[in-house]
Amino acid sequence: MTWLDLPADTLFGVANLPYGVYARGDDAPRCGVRVGDHVLDLAAALDDEVFAAPTLNGFMAQGRARWSAVRARLTDLLTDPAHRAAVEPHLVPLADVATRLPFEVGDYVDFYASEHHAANIGRMFRPGSDPLTPNWKHLPIGYHGRSGTVVPSGTPIVRPQGQRKAPDQPSPTFGPSRRLDIEAEVGFVVGTGSRLGDPVSLDDFADHVFGVCLVNDWSSRDLQAWEYVPLGPFLGKSFATSVSPWIVPLEALETARVAPPPRDHTLLPYLADTDKWGLDLALEVRLNGHVVARPPFSAMYWTPAQMLAHMTVNGASLRTGDLYASGTVSGPEPEQRGSLMELGWGGKEPFTLPDGSSRSFLEDGDEVTITATAPGAGGSRIGFGEVTGRILPAR
Ligand code: CA
Repeated sequence: MTWLDLPADTLFGVANLPYGVYARGDDAPRCGVRVGDHVLDLAAALDDEVFAAPTLNGFMAQGRARWSAVRARLTDLLTDPAHRAAVEPHLVPLADVATRLPFEVGDYVDFYASEHHAANIGRMFRPGSDPLTPNWKHLPIGYHGRSGTVVPSGTPIVRPQGQRKAPDQPSPTFGPSRRLDIEAEVGFVVGTGSRLGDPVSLDDFADHVFGVCLVNDWSSRDLQAWEYVPLGPFLGKSFATSVSPWIVPLEALETARVAPPPRDHTLLPYLADTDKWGLDLALEVRLNGHVVARPPFSAMYWTPAQMLAHMTVNGASLRTGDLYASGTVSGPEPEQRGSLMELGWGGKEPFTLPDGSSRSFLEDGDEVTITATAPGAGGSRIGFGEVTGRILPAR
């Protein structure tokens, strides 16, 4: 129990304690931890200058033992009434602050780990052939994205322009994307790096990954369809990727761990499931305030530990602040699909919003918000907050 006056069903109780960066007025940004509708000023509450910084990178680089010690100290400060008088002055109402990008992003990798998403996209992009490519169930497919355009939740998204060519057109045209989409994803933030040449094994996942956030991988389907063969995603993805402001520490997700789906092949040893790092996260996607999908992360074929092991098996090193995302989270049911491309089946089955308008893809002015919750300690639920963004016209 906590001495804080929190509702019993809060998503941000002491079982969660996600980290972020915030600024009050014109003050310099600093690190905080969210508790209920407040943020705790960590530099002040812990008397530690590593938190008087505009990113979490310094703290993340200190490693797993230190993350665990700080979390234990925060739990003590927020549960033992003896600390109340000392801690309470450092709780700042969320309404008084603006959240920032919580970490300086190193490299950014995006995976494609949902079988349901990959199969749906395969059916639409490559009709008549197998929905999954022959490699799909042997390795987690991914690509290196553009870390410089990872933006914090709330950043407006300018509709990208580029080349697009419909199959029945003889040549491409240039202009604003007509098939602007979202991808509801989960992101994993690397805390401690690794040495060039040394793979990171499945068992070392929790030593390197600091925490988890929500990601919206904005995607232009018309740009993507024309450019992606033979080298994969490029300008259809690189214009913006939004992340949520709160990084839920891996330790808070112990209660959310589940076994991944059954495997169809024996996996090579470096990917063989040795531990349960599937995660029971329940996502919600809202378009202009209305829920359009409820994707379950537990249905993902590849776990984040497998993604990390694969990403480094060639000896590629990690750096503090590296971000890798899961790929679109889609479940087996139609209402569990994490992209408009799937929800509207490539424009063939537009869906209707409560205001009577219909959508296949995003219109200017549309706002998309992704949220998620997970089972927390003591029967609680913990929240990830939200990642949101509104579409501005092309310019
Ligand atoms: Ca993606």
